[in-house]
Amino acid sequence: MSVLEMNTAEPSQATFPRPLTETERSFVAFLITKFLPTRNYLQEQLADSVVTRICGCGCPTFDLWETCSPAPPASEARVFWQGYGETARGDSVGILLFETAGRLSCCEVFYNADESRADLPVFESIKESPTSPVQP
Ligand SMILES: [Zn+2]
Repeated sequence: MSVLEMNTAEPSQATFPRPLTETERSFVAFLITKFLPTRNYLQEQLADSVVTRICGCGCPTFDLWETCSPAPPASEARVFWQGYGETARGDSVGILLFETAGRLSCCEVFYNADESRADLPVFESIKESPTSPVQP
């Protein structure tokens, strides 16, 4: 498959669930460690989680779910942390962590520019949004 075909191909659902990549795992682990220290149990969930879906638009957004938990309930996902940062190329991005029924269910990274890339923000650039939900 050529690079062009790889870039334009729809992500195949047959490849899910898959393990988190090292980059995906360290990104979420960093966010929990730095911004959610009172919710350290999320690290255990993360360790047991797999990626169940990725966004098809080219951004790094992925859904995840703990393998030992029952399937995600139909209840709505809610944002429990919000932040922002900048990629190595200087693109500004927003970051949202979602939970469904108390479990990590999505890590969304959205580009403020028109074009989405697959790059995650540089860790040191990440800040908590002033409008991030208040932590218990
Ligand atoms: Zn996307």
